[in-house]
Amino acid sequence: MKVPLLDLKAQYAPLRDEIKEVMDEVCDAQYFILGPKVEAFENNIAEYCGVKHAIGVSSGTDALLMAMMALDIGVGDAVITSTYTFFATAGSIARLGATPIFVDIDPVSFNIDPAKVRAIFENPPENIKGLNVKAIIPVHLYGQMADMDSIMKIATEFDVGVIEDAAQAIGSEYLFNDGNDYKAGSIGDMGCYSFFPSKNLGGFGDGGMVVTNDDNLADKLRKARNHGMAPKYYHQFVGGNFRLDALQAVVLDVKLKYLDEWHSARRRNAELYNKAFAGSLVKTPAAVYADKGIVNYHIYNQYIIRVANRDVVRDRLLANDIGCDIYYPVPMHLQECFSDLGYKLGDLPNSEQAANETLALPIYPELTDEMQECVAETILSVHE
Ligand SMILES: *Cc1c(COP(=O)(O)O)cnc(C)c1O
Repeated sequence: MKVPLLDLKAQYAPLRDEIKEVMDEVCDAQYFILGPKVEAFENNIAEYCGVKHAIGVSSGTDALLMAMMALDIGVGDAVITSTYTFFATAGSIARLGATPIFVDIDPVSFNIDPAKVRAIFENPPENIKGLNVKAIIPVHLYGQMADMDSIMKIATEFDVGVIEDAAQAIGSEYLFNDGNDYKAGSIGDMGCYSFFPSKNLGGFGDGGMVVTNDDNLADKLRKARNHGMAPKYYHQFVGGNFRLDALQAVVLDVKLKYLDEWHSARRRNAELYNKAFAGSLVKTPAAVYADKGIVNYHIYNQYIIRVANRDVVRDRLLANDIGCDIYYPVPMHLQECFSDLGYKLGDLPNSEQAANETLALPIYPELTDEMQECVAETILSVHE
C-alpha cells in the first residue's frame, strides 16, 4: 500500500469550496499585502494562542529574524538555542551577525536541556567569552513544548530574552508553574510560528507570525516587517519586507477553524502507532505532558521513532512506497556553515545520537488505520 509522509490533497479536498470562495474575495478586492484580511487572521491567531498581539509575516524564518531584531540582537551578541532543530533557528541568529551557542537536548523529549542552558551561564564556555548573551530560543520540537518553567526561570535569573520557536507547535499547550495553561509562543517575550505547508497549520506558500504580549515589541515588529517605516516613507530603523499577504491569510483563516480537530486526529494516530510498536525494539516518542490535564499536550507535527538500525528501516519503508524522513540528520553544531564556531563530533552527544536513530513516520490527520497498520508491519518486519 502506498502511504505518503504527508497528503495535502487529502486535507484540501473537503475544504476546496470554502477556500476557493475566500480566495475569490481577495481576487475581487485586489488588496493583496497586509490589510483587513491579514488583520482579521492576526486577531484570530492572537485569540487562539492567548496573546495580545499577532504580527503576520512572510515565513517562520523571518518571524525568528524579526523577533531577534526587535531585541536588538546583532554583532557581539550570543543567542542560546538547541542544536537539534531545523536550520532556520540557527541561521537567523547568524544572519544578524550574532553567535549561536548550541545546547544539547534532553533525549526523552528531544527539546533543549535546561540544565545545560544553565551551565552556560554559570560556567561560560570559551566560545562565549566576550559576547553578550541576549536571548534563549527554545524550540518546541515536533509539536511538544520545551521545559518552559526551567527556561523562564533561567532567563529571569540571568536577565535575557526568550523567543519561542513554535514553528512546529502552534496550539500546543503547557501547564506552567503559575497553574495556568499556556499555548506555545505565549510564554516567552515573543513566539514565532511558521505556515510552511507541512506544518499543522500550513498555507498555500510561505507565511509566518510573531506573537507577543508586549506593546513596545509589537510596535517594533509591525514596523520591522515594513522597512522600519512609520509614517509612510519615514524610516525609524532598517527593517525589511517581511509582510504576510491576504491570499495566505484567508486560506489560513479557513484552516484555523479545523486546527484542533487535526491536532486530535494526529494524537489518535500517534496512539495507534504506540500500540502497534508496544513491546518491540521500536522506541516510540514520549508525550511528556500527557498526564497534565491539558488537551494539546502534543500536536505531533512529526511522529518520531528511534531504531538502532534506522537506515535499514528507512530503506525498507521507501522500498515499500511508504514515506518517511529524517528530522534532522546533522545537528547544527556539526553543520559546515558553522564549522568556524569550533564544535566537534562528540560535543553534544544526545543530539548526535538522535540524528542517527530517529525517523519520522506518516502522522497526518487523514491517514487511515489500514495505512498505519501497513507502516507498522513494514517496520516490524525488519526485526523478524
Ligand atoms: C519550519 C521551521 C522553521 C522555519 O519556518 P519557515 O516558514 O519554513 O521559514 C523554523 N523553525 C523550525 C523548528 C521549523 O520547523
